[in-house]
Amino acid sequence: MTAIRQSGKINEDTTLIDIEMLGIQGIFSMYLIESGKKCIIDAGTKTEAQEIHNKLKELNAFPPDMIILTHSHWDHTQAIPFLCHKAEKMGKQIEILASAAAIPHLREQSFNDAFGLGPYENIKNDVTPLKEGDIVDLEGITLKIFEIPGHTNDHIAILDEKNNNIYVGDAIGIKPLDNFFIPPFLPPYWDKDTYVNSINKLKNIDYDSLCLAHFGYIYDDEAKSILDESVSVYEQWWKLFEENVDKLFDLAYMKDTIIQKMLPNFEHFGEVLAQTVLFWLATGFKIYKNL
Ligand SMILES: [Zn+2]
Repeated sequence: MTAIRQSGKINEDTTLIDIEMLGIQGIFSMYLIESGKKCIIDAGTKTEAQEIHNKLKELNAFPPDMIILTHSHWDHTQAIPFLCHKAEKMGKQIEILASAAAIPHLREQSFNDAFGLGPYENIKNDVTPLKEGDIVDLEGITLKIFEIPGHTNDHIAILDEKNNNIYVGDAIGIKPLDNFFIPPFLPPYWDKDTYVNSINKLKNIDYDSLCLAHFGYIYDDEAKSILDESVSVYEQWWKLFEENVDKLFDLAYMKDTIIQKMLPNFEHFGEVLAQTVLFWLATGFKIYKNL
């Protein structure tokens, strides 16, 4: 095993926090980086915002100085209004940072309607725009920004240059368990070509470990081999969706087909979660293919 998929320290400066998204353990990890400044990577969901606040307080890390968003999808953004409001009540401000391309999407979150779990609150806070090569200084740790579109057009990777640990959000897919990898073609902004370019870009970055939003800290050889694995998983799933283009939204059929042909342990994801994720993938596929 070359992954840590539970709450706790992943290196001397960094804590993985399982936000238990939608009440389920092991599907969304937030990361707290503590140096001269405290920073969290991604904000999490509105339904878990109170719990995120509690967990950060327990870690003596509320409010953090900043939240850096890997991209603008709802599960990475919707806790922001609650967390910022709590900080303001303490007379503090949390700085929000995201790709410059994410800012219009944060202002208008209704594109998340494709996920069917709304309503989604627009993010009205000031947002500091980030671009390729920017450095965020945590006073003791520097974070370097890379643009890695594909999953969305506003996705960034964040390299902790002290620990040589890179945060890739959802850019390479969802891997909540060993031998359980789901591709990243989610709606509504999936783009295959920029995804492939971003994978190649990640291969050329010198890092030792990698953090997924869904889910966990990946180290040793798997931190690099997961990039090729992402592409082969993507190709397999895309092909299967192409072959079943008339049955994409027959979710029970798609689930059985995936269990039989590709991913036997998809069974263990639970009926509702499996069908929810398949609905999202089918929607991402459909929008990209203009069906
Ligand atoms: Zn996403």
